Amino acid sequence: MAAEARHFKYVVLGGGVAAGYAAREFAKQGVNPGELAIISKEPVAPYERPALSKGYLFPQNAARLPGFHTCVGSGGERLLPEWYSEKGIELILSTEIVKVDLASKTLTSAAGATFTYEILLIATGSSVIKLTDFGVQGAESNNILYLRDIADAEKLVAAMQAKKDGKAVIVGGGYIGLELSAALKINNFDVTMVYPEPWCMPRLFTSGIAHFYEGYYANKGIKIVKGTVAVGFDADANGDVTAVKLKDGRVLEADIVIVGVGGRPLTALFKGQVADEKGGLKTDAFFETSVPGVYAIGDVATFPLKLYNEQRRVEHVDHARKSAEQAVRAIKAKESGESVPEYDYLPYFYSRSFDVAWQFYGDNVGDDVLFGDNDPASAKPKFGSYWVKDGKVVGVFLEGGSAEENQAIARVARAQPAVADVEALKQEGLEFAAKV
Ligand SMILES: Cc1cc2nc3c(=O)[nH]c(=O)nc-3n(C[C@H](O)[C@H](O)[C@H](O)COP(=O)(O)OP(=O)(O)OC[C@H]3O[C@@H](n4cnc5c(N)ncnc54)[C@H](O)[C@@H]3O)c2cc1C
Repeated sequence: MAAEARHFKYVVLGGGVAAGYAAREFAKQGVNPGELAIISKEPVAPYERPALSKGYLFPQNAARLPGFHTCVGSGGERLLPEWYSEKGIELILSTEIVKVDLASKTLTSAAGATFTYEILLIATGSSVIKLTDFGVQGAESNNILYLRDIADAEKLVAAMQAKKDGKAVIVGGGYIGLELSAALKINNFDVTMVYPEPWCMPRLFTSGIAHFYEGYYANKGIKIVKGTVAVGFDADANGDVTAVKLKDGRVLEADIVIVGVGGRPLTALFKGQVADEKGGLKTDAFFETSVPGVYAIGDVATFPLKLYNEQRRVEHVDHARKSAEQAVRAIKAKESGESVPEYDYLPYFYSRSFDVAWQFYGDNVGDDVLFGDNDPASAKPKFGSYWVKDGKVVGVFLEGGSAEENQAIARVARAQPAVADVEALKQEGLEFAAKV
């Protein structure tokens, strides 16, 4: 006979960044023991996922759990597993939900356990796109790796130990590719990056911005192969990858291959049960979906981005944190007949590798205006870009900014000041931001 369903007032489905910040907000707003459960496929309590491609891979003093559980990434309290038990918040770990029935408010796990709820927060995040998904020849070979969760990071650490001082090929020129290339280089690998675009991070970087990072990486000894893609892999008798075959005919030797070619929001469980848009689950400004009592937060939500008056999905950690807090505040306010202001998000994204670190706020649309010194050989590089649309600054990128300067560029992206003279803006550079 099937065991009886376990019932919770609130269930967070997924145990990543958004789940951790939702738990903290529930505790802040007041939740009774036994009311809230987090159900996660992962075996550990929520943690700050960005650490996996950064501190986790350091050759010395590497970050390890419990060091980076949420909410340390935003300077908040570190929620250890004990914190959850003290609050009476149930962490149901190593539990994959394979079936969701929003009509009967029931979730079913791979092991056949069932859970019912009154309010559901969907926080399933994204999964990585794999080369095996496209049937790339040899893509199933050993040591062709991806990075999304702690198990992936552990595999990468083990491969780096097994193939010490070897050759690494990084497939993909996005921020994951850039961060992982740096990590492998710091671990003394011979690193080659491969990507099809004319420059790295083309979704955000302009050619002027990319000029700096490509030169900086080259100076660190990282080889960059652009304008082609991996079409196959060779392996030895053990099944370990030995080479990457490129579309342009070149062959790169490899002991480790890391693929960072993007993610997909995990929404398949809800298909046909809830409205979707732009690849995510459509929500209102409080992250409630088309099904009352069902919320979507973090990477899976397509929400109204008030500042630009359009529905967007954002796959960044800052939004995962803030959307979780907004949803929980809205849920609790509704219960007491109150209301909260609409979500009014300013897009924010950052990355760091080696000794460089950048931040970006706003929207990268319109004309870009590069300022500062983007010479990759500079001792202390500091440069950036404004994006100007309809005579207003709508986005700002800054490499090497101080805390104050980063706050200033955030203010600019929020205020959208008018610019009459683009050439003057270029000359003024950061001074323009300081005045806003
Ligand atoms: C390596 C890496 C580095 C990153 N670095 C940065 C960075 O520098 N800056 C930045 O802004 N963003 C960064 N990001 C993106 C950021 O981490 C994500 O946007 C953020 O984690 C999204 O939070 P989330 O809670 O929506 O999803 P996630 O944190 O991915 O959490 C989803 C959780 O749901 C679980 N889950 C999914 N399906 C099920 C199921 N069916 N049953 C049970 N559990 C399930 C997953 O196992 C996971 O625990 C990085 C991401 C990665 C992978």
